[in-house]
Amino acid sequence: MKLLEDKILAEGIAVNENILKADGFINHQVDPALMKAVGEDFAAHFQDMGITKVVTIESSGIAPAVMTAAAMNVPLLILKKSPSKVLNEDLYQTVVTSYTKGTSYELTLSARLLSETDHVLIIDDFLANGEAATGAVRLIRKAHATVAGIGILIEKSFQPGRAKLEEQGFHIYSQVRVAKLAKGVIELIRQDS
Ligand code: 5GP
Repeated sequence: MKLLEDKILAEGIAVNENILKADGFINHQVDPALMKAVGEDFAAHFQDMGITKVVTIESSGIAPAVMTAAAMNVPLLILKKSPSKVLNEDLYQTVVTSYTKGTSYELTLSARLLSETDHVLIIDDFLANGEAATGAVRLIRKAHATVAGIGILIEKSFQPGRAKLEEQGFHIYSQVRVAKLAKGVIELIRQDS
């Protein structure tokens, strides 16, 4: 997606060879016009697939995911990060390792908000090792809902997330693919649209 590619090249910050900061337009300060375009692009890509809900992980996926849900006219479900296990039978929980923090957290979903009649689109800001998306899939499956696809704003294609998710048969659409990072250097795999 050219608009997002251009923004990343202009305002993204490559911290080192693994981490790209997008906190000026996605997950700290938000560019609403860009997020609206991102949402419309996901909605166009995943149209006519019978999607009933968009699912994201708090907090960095919320801005693009809410715009996607608005463009698709479906609810947005935010999977919560709980620091410790909450013993409550109305919750589904699974442990996920955070890529950026290196720590683990419990990803949590309230059982009443998702059911076997739901077919969901997972949206997240970054794809690195695929841990967050895989954790989201585990919770969605606990609720007996199905996954229509996974939409990612920024895929770091030199990391193993895409391959891991594709091995499990998921349809992944990444708006921007990063070939390489180094301090102050961002190389993209240029795509058509
Ligand atoms: P994964 O679970 O695929 O290993 O990592 C994806 C999650 O980690 C995303 O939800 C995102 O919040 C965070 N993440 C991974 N890589 C980066 C990065 O380069 N920059 C930022 N800002 N977040 C990242």
